[in-house]
Amino acid sequence: MPGTFGNSWWWCAGWVGSLAMADIESTPALSPLQNKTLGLLRRAPDPVVFDTAFIASLRADIIEAFEQFHERLGDETIFISKHRLSSVLGCEVQHLLDDNFEWSPAVAGGQVAHRAVQLMVNWRGDPAPADVIDEALARLANEDTSIGDWIAGLSEADLADLRGFAVDKLIKFQECFPPLDRRAAPTVESSVRWPLEGPIVLSGKVDLTLGRPAGAESRKVLIDLKTGWVSPRHREDLRFYALVETLRTQIPPRKLASFYLDAGEPVVEDVNERVLLTASRRMLDGVNAEIELRIEGREPVKRPGTSCRWCPLQPECAEGQSYLADREAGRD
Ligand code: SF4
Repeated sequence: MPGTFGNSWWWCAGWVGSLAMADIESTPALSPLQNKTLGLLRRAPDPVVFDTAFIASLRADIIEAFEQFHERLGDETIFISKHRLSSVLGCEVQHLLDDNFEWSPAVAGGQVAHRAVQLMVNWRGDPAPADVIDEALARLANEDTSIGDWIAGLSEADLADLRGFAVDKLIKFQECFPPLDRRAAPTVESSVRWPLEGPIVLSGKVDLTLGRPAGAESRKVLIDLKTGWVSPRHREDLRFYALVETLRTQIPPRKLASFYLDAGEPVVEDVNERVLLTASRRMLDGVNAEIELRIEGREPVKRPGTSCRWCPLQPECAEGQSYLADREAGRD
């Protein structure tokens, strides 16, 4: 029986589970925004089944390319995440600085909210968002991870700031998404990795996945939760995850969605062979550049772009300053 919306994040309803049904109807129990989300993510009547020969050939081509890269790697191992891939294909000078990652309230707030969504999906009852955020913060602070250490060292005031940021994200998530039924197989921060062992490892964590393959039929949806502006990079990030999912399971996801929580708008893309081939070429370009820069010592190339805005080298970088001045003046 459908429950009253807001009663629970786990037991509501046949219609929530029907995210996996082809003929889902919008329902007055959901807000217009939630109904819109369901409509955009639902399956089409025709099942999505990829050509197994195409998947086998994609995989074989990547394995062959990796074997050629191995010869240039020596004893080194490289890990390719969506962030590292975007970074190495952007400004290479900034990329080589990127290892000095530091947590900030904006980045950590997103992680806290993701952890809270993870708790919420399996939480019985109707907890207040602030309570779930507090639980997420406590759990993260107890973990032996860099974010755990960072949270444990915050002052009360900084913790309050972080809590406020994370609560805002969690409430926006609830406004955009219907309650997630267990039958929709939701997973949050799901780790993906391929292959099992290096020396080149593709890895990442998908913010939210819904559905799972049924035999050879693609049913999984990969979702990245975003705040801020739309960027082409977000689509490339999801395509990278679609590629890793395909390599590890041999069943591609059926749909990708960057969900912009501030605007309440998803940008959705169907997965097809072209998407996977594009992701594969981009990933191989990134691995090649990473080997050239880190192993073979090639000089990094400056590529001014949006990231000049937060680049620590910008005060001394003529190219970055010129790019930002042109942007400010509305010049291409
Ligand atoms: S300011 Fe821009 S062009 Fe210069 S190093 Fe930084 S990212 Fe690269």
